Amino acid sequence: MVNIDLTGKRALIMGVTNRRSLGWSIAAKLHAAGAELAFSYQGDRLKGEVEKLTKDIPSARLYQVDVTQQDQLKALFADLAEAWGTIDYLVHAIAFAPREAMDGRYIETTRDDWVTALEISAYSLVAVAGEAEPLLAEDGAMVTLTYYAAEKVVPKYNVMGVAKSALEASVRYLAYDLGEKGVRINAISAGPVKTVAARSIPGFMKMYKRVAAVSPLKHQVDQTDVGNLGLFLLSPMSGGITGETIYVDSGFNVMGMDLGDD
Ligand code: NAD
Repeated sequence: MVNIDLTGKRALIMGVTNRRSLGWSIAAKLHAAGAELAFSYQGDRLKGEVEKLTKDIPSARLYQVDVTQQDQLKALFADLAEAWGTIDYLVHAIAFAPREAMDGRYIETTRDDWVTALEISAYSLVAVAGEAEPLLAEDGAMVTLTYYAAEKVVPKYNVMGVAKSALEASVRYLAYDLGEKGVRINAISAGPVKTVAARSIPGFMKMYKRVAAVSPLKHQVDQTDVGNLGLFLLSPMSGGITGETIYVDSGFNVMGMDLGDD
């Protein structure tokens, strides 16, 4: 029998809002596997919810970090250096684009909205990896969350699709840099899952229903699927895999129309 036992391992999860968050779904699996956890959340507004969520994880460390603030990132890793010394696993589950940038045509994206989306959704991974690097254990691993719109046009996803392309390319470049030390990094490309971030995407519910109908497994991607893949990609079970974007069954490999008979 193969068992994923992460007792003695330490993981930082960045980007948890509530129990639907994909970051939380990976955290729950890491906790079940025995890892010690730290969480970062964006602002004071989320503090109460994250405290409630983690109340049954007594050793959990909580940090408020806005990823656009380098000093807050520095303070986070300085504190973890003192408390833990090393970090084994890091989960980056953070993205943001102003709503108006996802409501019209991509061609109308303003400079400010483009920069905001790319900074929070893609550059933040580079900033986090850079600050974490000195602390990452030799067989450490990172995961981030991406979406199919990085590869193909998904109408209305607009600048977030472009940000996800930059994120996936960053995963490949970071894998090259971090690989020198034996640290791996991969991206999970998830089909539509109902979360706070997803529900703010125009047309999300239509896509959510469509995917279950056309996907090979006729299955709605959910938090358990993402949590399991996250656990696998962080654990030594995936020791030979780095720089990759791995899909959870989402139906995008199936053409959207049924050709029927001639
Ligand atoms: P979520 O709303 O639960 O998580 C998004 C998180 O990003 C929130 O916790 C938010 O506070 C954080 N965030 C935004 N701006 C930040 C900032 N400046 N500093 C720090 N944190 C910030 O939603 P989710 O769906 O769990 O999103 C997690 C990741 O999964 C995102 O990268 C998202 O694009 C990706 N993803 C989601 C789906 C889906 O259908 N839900 C599909 C594919 C990929």
